Amino acid sequence: MLKNLLSKEECAKCRICCCFDSSDIWEAPVITQSKAEQILREYKPGQEFVKREGHTLLKMEKEPDSDLYYCSLLDRSKGCIMGDEKPFDCKIWPFRVMSLNGVNVITLSPVCPVVKTRPLEDIMKVCWQISDEIFSQAKAHPEIVKPYIEGYPIIVTQNSDGC
Ligand code: SF4
Ligand code: SF4
Repeated sequence: MLKNLLSKEECAKCRICCCFDSSDIWEAPVITQSKAEQILREYKPGQEFVKREGHTLLKMEKEPDSDLYYCSLLDRSKGCIMGDEKPFDCKIWPFRVMSLNGVNVITLSPVCPVVKTRPLEDIMKVCWQISDEIFSQAKAHPEIVKPYIEGYPIIVTQNSDGC
């Protein structure tokens, strides 16, 4: 979804958003019921999941010698084994859909080292292009909406009519 902002080559050299530590494991992708079924059926039959309050995450193993959790769907030489079928959270990264005072907003994570080098107008243009789909997914799967985090720049706010 973000081909106009990021190239596969840039992401292949980075992979920051496919690796977590205990402070940002909350950023791990939320797995909807249908995505979990697809993972088990088509990508990783042995994948285990972790239930959290109202949502489901992939079970990831901590690295033996560091506080790091590589996504269980990451092939470290080829990238995400799901390709374009990756979870919605990953498709829109580094955009995040968050709830601020009951209103859904699309924010930009400060973590992605590549997107933050892009001109703001390009970031905003892409965000507007995909905002309808993001808000529509948020309506269908409210579990993907995270609480707003102070300091995250808000790029788009959902209107009261849902657009
Ligand atoms: S953090 Fe940004 S540049 Fe790095 S892999 Fe993720 S989307 Fe690509
Ligand atoms: S599902 Fe794929 S894109 Fe998402 S964090 Fe895991 S490896 Fe990365």
